[in-house]
Amino acid sequence: MRLIILGPTGTGKGTQAKFIARLLKIKHIESGAILRKEAKKNNFIKEIINKGKLVPDRLIIKIINKIIKNRKNFILDGFPRTLTQAKLLKFTPNLVIYLKTNKNNLVKRLLLRKRSDDTKENIKEKYNVYLKKTLPVINHYKRKKLLVTVNGNPSINQVSKNIKKILTKYLLQ
Ligand code: AMP
Repeated sequence: MRLIILGPTGTGKGTQAKFIARLLKIKHIESGAILRKEAKKNNFIKEIINKGKLVPDRLIIKIINKIIKNRKNFILDGFPRTLTQAKLLKFTPNLVIYLKTNKNNLVKRLLLRKRSDDTKENIKEKYNVYLKKTLPVINHYKRKKLLVTVNGNPSINQVSKNIKKILTKYLLQ
């Protein structure tokens, strides 16, 4: 099972990706966590993350394609974030889960989690980057009929329950 979970920062995709990985016993691959780790030894990456921008496509694609090589079961969290990334990905996902959350809820959640790259300016920048670069990815998977949209506004548990229902239905098809 090859899954992708997408949505703006603060939508809860990390939490739900972990839930799905545990549920289906598949690997959770989180591009943001990988890059934050890289940033500790790489100032170029650190600066980009701290500005709320995206790292260059070729850099993240290389990392992700290496990790997923020869793997059949995983959930990609936070990748692809641009159309180029989506087109250069070396597999077709079974399903792409789009967690859709109201902007007000996103800001509230991001300010609560207190991560160093979650400043007010950054949150705004990340949302703009999301609208400009990631929404086209969502539309790309929608056109391919691979997208399921999940309402990300309810509680974590409720969203998990809804995702479980969708996955069960998909697996029983
Ligand atoms: P996240 O935890 O998903 O919000 O990611 C943290 C930061 O890592 C983002 O703000 C970007 O700077 C960078 N990042 C994560 N995933 C990607 C990606 N697929 N493409 C480019 N940059 C990314």
